[in-house]
Amino acid sequence: EATIEVTGLRKRFGRTQALDGMSFTVLPGQVTGFVGPNGAGKSTTMRVVLGLDSADEGSALVGGRPYASLRRPLSHVGALLDAGALQPSRTARNHLLWLAHSQGLGAGRVDEVIEQAGLATAARRKAGGFSLGMRQRLGIAAALLGDPPVLMLDEPFNGLDPEGIVWIRGFLRSLAAEGRAVLVSSHLMSELQDTAGHLVVVGRGRVVADTSVADLITTA
Ligand code: ADP
Ligand code: ADP
Repeated sequence: EATIEVTGLRKRFGRTQALDGMSFTVLPGQVTGFVGPNGAGKSTTMRVVLGLDSADEGSALVGGRPYASLRRPLSHVGALLDAGALQPSRTARNHLLWLAHSQGLGAGRVDEVIEQAGLATAARRKAGGFSLGMRQRLGIAAALLGDPPVLMLDEPFNGLDPEGIVWIRGFLRSLAAEGRAVLVSSHLMSELQDTAGHLVVVGRGRVVADTSVADLITTA
């Protein structure tokens, strides 16, 4: 079951209440836009879903299960955080081969995800010389390695050129049309309004609006 269910997450960093009752569901088959200003809690939510941060309260489930209980996590959920951590001295292709190997996924999909992410001409260049846009593409390729039913991408539009933004919009929609649950964050509504069918708008660690884009446009 391709879903993300976030229920009542609360998380404090010192005096900062980063998450203050964050709750929403991401369903398969459409792009869910996760929109809100910087500091609203989007990255923290994704990190909690991935078990990289622990919540003080609440639960986060991927396909009905906690991330920590997934035996092959990359086959369940692919994530792009921080424009994809990469190893600067490796070529893009070797980075993906290493990642596939270290996750027990095999090399079978490496060339396919390179193609999907539009990296074919750059795959044998060292990732350390990549622009932010190219790093985003490499991070997206890495997220797709396990062919996961659930994808979480944190600010994937950052650093992409206009052509890359057009590409990623269509690509995200096609991934969702294949039946995946796709959660995409942005601090700009304009980046998501033509891409997301479902919008979760957040501020100060909680959801302030949760709506289908069709409803938003007809009531506007
Ligand atoms: P967004 O992704 O929406 O920009 P974040 O989840 O990154 O928001 O941040 C939410 C709040 O939590 C912000 O006030 C941020 O400064 C704070 N925060 C996030 N991570 C940490 C951390 N590791 N230590 C201290 N504060 C943090
Ligand atoms: P994942 O969390 O990777 O989806 P699953 O629990 O769905 O793993 O199991 C995937 C396959 O591996 C299933 O066929 C399941 O029966 C089998 N399996 C699950 N746990 C174990 C285990 N501890 N040892 C051997 N096979 C297992």
